[in-house]
Amino acid sequence: MERALSEDDARVYVGNAMQQAEDVRRQGMLAHWELYTTGTRDASEQADRAARAFYTDPQLSTTLEVCYDLVTDPQLTDHIDYLYARAKAYCKQDDAEDAMEAKAREAGSLQMTHRATYRGAPTTDLAMDKVLETEKDIGLRKEAWYARKAKGDAAAHAIVELVKLRNEYARGQGHANYYEMCLEGEGYDPEGLYEFLEEVDSDTVASYTTKNTERKAELAAAFGISVDELRPWHFDLDVDGLAKEMDMYFPAGKQMEMLKRSYTDMGFDLKGLGITYDVDPRPGKSQHCFSMGISMPDDVRVLANKEATYDYQQVLHHESGHAVYYAGMDPALPFYDRGAPTNTMNESVPMLMEQVCSTAQWLEEYAGVPTELAARVEADNLWGEESFIRKVLAVSTFERRMYENPDQDLATLWWELKERFEGMPRPDDTSVNAWAATPHFIDYPAYYHDYLMASMAAAQLRSAIETENGSVLGNPGTAEFLREKVFAPGQSTGENEIMEGATGEDVNTQAYFEWVYGEDEDAAGGAGPDA
Ligand SMILES: [Zn+2]
Repeated sequence: MERALSEDDARVYVGNAMQQAEDVRRQGMLAHWELYTTGTRDASEQADRAARAFYTDPQLSTTLEVCYDLVTDPQLTDHIDYLYARAKAYCKQDDAEDAMEAKAREAGSLQMTHRATYRGAPTTDLAMDKVLETEKDIGLRKEAWYARKAKGDAAAHAIVELVKLRNEYARGQGHANYYEMCLEGEGYDPEGLYEFLEEVDSDTVASYTTKNTERKAELAAAFGISVDELRPWHFDLDVDGLAKEMDMYFPAGKQMEMLKRSYTDMGFDLKGLGITYDVDPRPGKSQHCFSMGISMPDDVRVLANKEATYDYQQVLHHESGHAVYYAGMDPALPFYDRGAPTNTMNESVPMLMEQVCSTAQWLEEYAGVPTELAARVEADNLWGEESFIRKVLAVSTFERRMYENPDQDLATLWWELKERFEGMPRPDDTSVNAWAATPHFIDYPAYYHDYLMASMAAAQLRSAIETENGSVLGNPGTAEFLREKVFAPGQSTGENEIMEGATGEDVNTQAYFEWVYGEDEDAAGGAGPDA
């Protein structure tokens, strides 16, 4: 080197490198967006190569080392630490990591691009859900149910291979398996979490079983069969016509307007925040819904597939909850600190928004649903929460046990757990890999329990906002509360600090169980996992 670097040179160098790192991240996010909106993978591979080229350039690491000794500003030191750690991770990324990434891409693509057929023609998840909601012919229901799960059969083998590669990698890092490695990375003590979930199971099983027994009797009666004859494809029928009655209030053309009014009244100007929506279904586009902080806080996008249902409005409320979180990041934070500190925090505000639009008050005020119907729907939504809790227990137990032994008969394990936690009867042919239709096992490992934690956090935030402002709905103070206490710190601080600051407590079951099971239910008041 011709001339020694000064502190000013170091400042400029690190500033430029940060800018490039941010660009590399944005390119990666844009490529991801393209993959999910069009099904084309070219941009994604190109972005991977660009990121690798930037971080593995030996000049980057050596210059960062020199800069490290020169700078005194602690923020600059943080930037160097970040860049250096990323560069090290890229350089040391070995064949095992490449193999895991490639396998995850393969499994994801098998799951995402699989197109099932129904009555001899290609179909979609949405169309099959509609059949299961309305069709009374059992033969057609069965065909639709199998069509809905066919992507599982397509992806199952690749997922098992992925699980094995991940386990091998995790053992190399000194962990029992990949599932536990992920939990530890999120700050959980795995044993503490398992105990907590067992507690949730024993606190919620009685109420669920009583109500589910009634529901199953109604369902069997609707088909004119005995409860013993129920199979998975009988479920999801809109027995009392509630879903159909509700959907009348949610024409596709009014959904965005309803969403915007609801959010505006809570103090969020979705358009002003730069949040954009891609809601038109088309071939090649992902059938899932999600929100992406392409470049936070300025470029935040929501992917959804519009339909004329109440469910879709709930999805929009959820995804927009992610979007306002990402758009609420303080631009003064370094880009790597923009986002939620944990999965639980990431899902907390979306879950809060879903809870908001599940109430009778919201239904009356924003969708014009008559009082009596709104009350029935609210009760049904609370039953939905109970079912959701049991589903989380089934899915997260399955995933944990899959990582503990990927060679076992996973299709059968799935049905055992669906039966145990959800009271779901198994199909006669248990070899169908319904489990592998779950996208989380590929892209969001060890994540499912976080939806439960997030629902708990959401209820806690709701109750704290109500205490401070009187109400969440129709109150611009909601946005202010969330921006200041939840969004602003991004990842620069931890989940416990944020939740304690906003609600006075770590995440626990109290507010959520009070809401779902009623004030008097003494279900596990205030339990939480040690995180
Ligand atoms: Zn979400």
